[in-house]
Amino acid sequence: MGSLPRPESKPHAVCIPYPAQGHVNPMLKLAKLLHHHGGFHITFVNTEYNHRRLIKSGGPSAVEGLSDFRFHTIPDGLPPSDADTTQDVPSLCVSTTTTCLEPFCDLLSKLNSEAPPVSCIVSDGVMSFTLKAAERFGLPEVLFWTTSACGFLGYRQYRRLVEEGYTPLRDMSQVTNGHFETVIDWVPGMKDIRLRDFPSFIRTTDPKDIMLNFLIQEAEAAPRAKALIINTFDALERDVLDALSASFPRIYTVGPLQLMMDHVQDGRLGAMASSLWKEDLSCMEWLDTKEPESVVYVNFGSITVMTADQMSEFAWGLANSKKPFLWVIRPDLVAGDKAMLPPEFVTETKDRSRLMSWCPQEQVLKHPAVGGFLTHSGWNSTIESIVGGVPVICWPFFAEQQTNCRFSCVEWGMGMEIDNNVKRGEVEALVKELMDGEKGKKMKEKALEWKRKAEEAAAPGGSSYLNLENLINELLLQ
Ligand code: UDP
Repeated sequence: MGSLPRPESKPHAVCIPYPAQGHVNPMLKLAKLLHHHGGFHITFVNTEYNHRRLIKSGGPSAVEGLSDFRFHTIPDGLPPSDADTTQDVPSLCVSTTTTCLEPFCDLLSKLNSEAPPVSCIVSDGVMSFTLKAAERFGLPEVLFWTTSACGFLGYRQYRRLVEEGYTPLRDMSQVTNGHFETVIDWVPGMKDIRLRDFPSFIRTTDPKDIMLNFLIQEAEAAPRAKALIINTFDALERDVLDALSASFPRIYTVGPLQLMMDHVQDGRLGAMASSLWKEDLSCMEWLDTKEPESVVYVNFGSITVMTADQMSEFAWGLANSKKPFLWVIRPDLVAGDKAMLPPEFVTETKDRSRLMSWCPQEQVLKHPAVGGFLTHSGWNSTIESIVGGVPVICWPFFAEQQTNCRFSCVEWGMGMEIDNNVKRGEVEALVKELMDGEKGKKMKEKALEWKRKAEEAAAPGGSSYLNLENLINELLLQ
């Protein structure tokens, strides 16, 4: 990236992610890119809860930072806790919205009393209270929506879905009866999209539902920012991005951020990790012993919870597929219980499986032994799978994962969906199809095609590469 004109004092970006793993990871990458390519002094703002977990999982080097790349904390507003678990998302949305503005403003005041003064805010799209801080301090703010563009466009339809009576539902049976198959034909950029493909928070009967109203509020706040950043690339979501550009003239698609990071050869930045759980690296050696494209990788991200029955169905489906698999099971994956697998399952599969509670997912998905990914379709997981050229079986849990699943399966041709009411027979059949079947082969080809396009976007002169340059220029000129 060429050298850019620099203002008098060093530009200082305050980067604040929503306090969850799938938000902290991409925000830290973006912050590193701004630091490396734009020469920004960075203040990265974590919640106290996550800060403690980062230190615990990655050692102090994960959070100490460089002299011009600092970490600060604010409280998240929830009761203090020493837990190592995912926080309750609705409670966190309420608490960040209602309690974080003042601590954030106090931090900005403190930062402004030191050099260099804050020159811009880069905030998570679902932390829109920061816009009030930006207005109060007269600072420019850009919002980073860490969702897919299609997920964001889905949220942008919530208001109209409410106005037209599609949600709240009369009763929850509407999710499984014909109502959810209704095609919504007025969303530009989303052909044949069905109600069930919209982000999950419309699945409520309560007009005051916290998540439904939170996302309406956050999606509607977005145009108040100077610009929008999305971790996607133009070729992947062209129609959706065209549709969004009507309301957002300045969208910077800078993804996959993982590939953009390949241009950053700085060990000190590389050493700043963002994992909230301690990564078990032993799986990499295990993968080294496996044939190319032979292993099914199973991981449902940082928030998904399932019932003990669902877990057992996945387990027996994987066992019966007879394929080697690497399965990441967070200690809090099973609702209300410690995740437990049937002992017979463990005995039966121990020669061809590896179970662990957290892994270095980006590395796993790039390993040649991985042939398929059983995923909850979180956006980071989806785009990391594209970077690895790995086709997916989707079991969307919540938020815009439903939309990502739809796009993975229909628009991008690299996925197959598994029924929410998961049964072992279906797991077995889909895993076999993914790894050995004709459809699986086609999905693999598509995944590789998207991988190549992602690499083009992130290469010098590619769309994401140029967009990052333009974003940096816009932030420097503010
Ligand atoms: N992740 C990881 N190791 C794991 C599970 C997840 O490093 O064992 C990372 C993964 O690479 C991704 C993030 O955690 O960057 C999960 O984000 P995603 O959007 O896929 O799902 P969420 O956790 O937000 O539901």
